[in-house]
Amino acid sequence: MKTQKVRTLLAQTMIRRRQKARVNTAKALLRPDVITAVLVGTGGPMPSARVQSCTALFVNGQFLLFDAGDGAARRMEALHLPVAQLQAVFMTHYHADHFADLGEVIDRSWILGRRHRLPVHGPVGIARIVAGFHQAYTLEYGYRAAHHGDELMPLQWAEAQALEFDSPAASGSVSVYERDGVTVTAFPVLHPPIVPNVGYRIEFDGRAVVLSGDTVFTDTLLQQSRGADLLISDVMAMDAVEQIERGNQAGGNETTAQIMHDIRDYHISAEELGSLAEEAQVKRLALTHLSPPVEQRLLINSYFKRPIAARYTGKIVVGHDGTRIVIPRA
Ligand SMILES: [Zn+2]
Ligand SMILES: [Zn+2]
Repeated sequence: MKTQKVRTLLAQTMIRRRQKARVNTAKALLRPDVITAVLVGTGGPMPSARVQSCTALFVNGQFLLFDAGDGAARRMEALHLPVAQLQAVFMTHYHADHFADLGEVIDRSWILGRRHRLPVHGPVGIARIVAGFHQAYTLEYGYRAAHHGDELMPLQWAEAQALEFDSPAASGSVSVYERDGVTVTAFPVLHPPIVPNVGYRIEFDGRAVVLSGDTVFTDTLLQQSRGADLLISDVMAMDAVEQIERGNQAGGNETTAQIMHDIRDYHISAEELGSLAEEAQVKRLALTHLSPPVEQRLLINSYFKRPIAARYTGKIVVGHDGTRIVIPRA
């Protein structure tokens, strides 16, 4: 009898705590006066505990999501993000570490209460990917709707809507979203041979956030980052990746060694990123998609923080899954 009471009490406390965390998080993130970025996933394809590429941006009460790599949906819920309020998704490019969890993002947001067709913006290719997820999830949608009823889970909102845009010209940009003063523009980045591939600049009320996507240094990224309140960028520690290549070669793991060799030509180095952020006069620089995806402070400092700080005088935020960055009104 006593055990029963303790169990009930524990369960109630846990439910209350979660509920409170959800309400408080939604309240803080959907505030219209601040822009908040949540680095949901800060890893890339290299194996690590980090969730793959995914960034949530809360602007003027709108929840916008950029990329959805493996683990994104579960991490969003663990962080108590208001997934039912997800307004739109934006894709940078179609490496799987940027879209692997798109199906779950669509499905979970619907199950938890999304009642509009989820727009998924992306350069050419997104229609194919959304159609593929739709095909894979058709049975799942049907089962949920049949079990919970159409009132709780209306089938009409389960699917996402792919909104494909033509890639902007080399130095240009294209407007892809506009709602209540919030604008999102896409610009080309360079991550050969992956074409199309874009970064995004999000603006609202005199403030700007730029997402690099996966890229090397380019003049367009520099121009697009000018004066940004926050640049969220991909970054690679070239010497560390070279070391991993040598280590794998020595250990006879030729495949990984070759991959470590090949990937060094399509990501921006810590040194280049520091120079770019300084020249563009970016107010804050947040690092995501860390390669290699180390966690130890010593390695983070030596691979990323120190080489950037030697060139950039603004604020550096090394991203971990769940890092929040708040941009107050100018
Ligand atoms: Zn990537
Ligand atoms: Zn990529």
